[in-house]
Amino acid sequence: MNGFCDLTGKTAIVTGANTGIGQAIAVGLAGAGANIAGVGRSDMSQTAEMIGEKADFLAINADLATLDPIGRIVDQTLEWGGGIDILVNNAGIIRRADAIDFSEADWDAVMDVNLKSLFFLTQAVARHMLPRGSGKIVNIASLLSFQGGIRIPSYTASKSGLAGLTRLLACEWAGKGINVNAVAPGYVATNNTKALRDDPARNTAIVDRIPAGHWGQPKDISGAVVFLCSAAADYIHGAVLPVDGGWLAR
Ligand code: NAP
Repeated sequence: MNGFCDLTGKTAIVTGANTGIGQAIAVGLAGAGANIAGVGRSDMSQTAEMIGEKADFLAINADLATLDPIGRIVDQTLEWGGGIDILVNNAGIIRRADAIDFSEADWDAVMDVNLKSLFFLTQAVARHMLPRGSGKIVNIASLLSFQGGIRIPSYTASKSGLAGLTRLLACEWAGKGINVNAVAPGYVATNNTKALRDDPARNTAIVDRIPAGHWGQPKDISGAVVFLCSAAADYIHGAVLPVDGGWLAR
């Protein structure tokens, strides 16, 4: 890819790069020329195959349920790539139960991955970006950054919190050459949403409400991320960009 969205020679960390939206983002960034350090707890060989000759790929095995691997993720990426230009915080989980029955374990598990590890990985990466005065950070938010949803209290809290965190970090770092933004996917066909697609009534209700008339695919999200990681988005700070087939416009 040439021009404004060219990422040739950049080093990007993408969390949750083994499947779904994170895999599509890794492939999209690689297509724009970036070398990818994929971070995750599952095998990433499929992503490596999809990237193929487009770019270099490093798999970093890490479980983001705790902060333990964060220093290692940064060290391994720096040793391999020589720097970190891009961080895409994609890894996330969801737990479903009525609010009245929701457990502390389901609260903590979601908050730990979706918000706590995300913040401290971002902090660790920013400690390398700030002295250089450049970097792009993209958080994967959600429609639940804007709306309430049902039966997903910790997920909604984490994604609404992530929208606020995106804006706070943008305010602190925009003047220091770092762009912090978020992409908010609508309903995308991945493991995360399998339970919804498997429920015929919910599936019909969802599709009927999407102006585009169909579920998104993971690759529908990657273009917005590539754009926000590129020079084309240098003056965009603290935005939470919906990529949702028009859901929020309805
Ligand atoms: P997914 O297929 O379930 O992918 C989630 C990714 O996060 C996987 O790579 C998963 O690894 C990784 N992950 C989860 N817990 C982890 C942990 N403790 N340590 C390391 N990696 C971990 O779902 P997805 O839809 O692609 O989700 C990607 C992001 O998009 C999430 O932040 C999600 O909230 C967000 N999102 C999705 C939708 C949607 O409609 N699909 C809509 C809005 C936002 P494993 O495969 O090993 O579990």
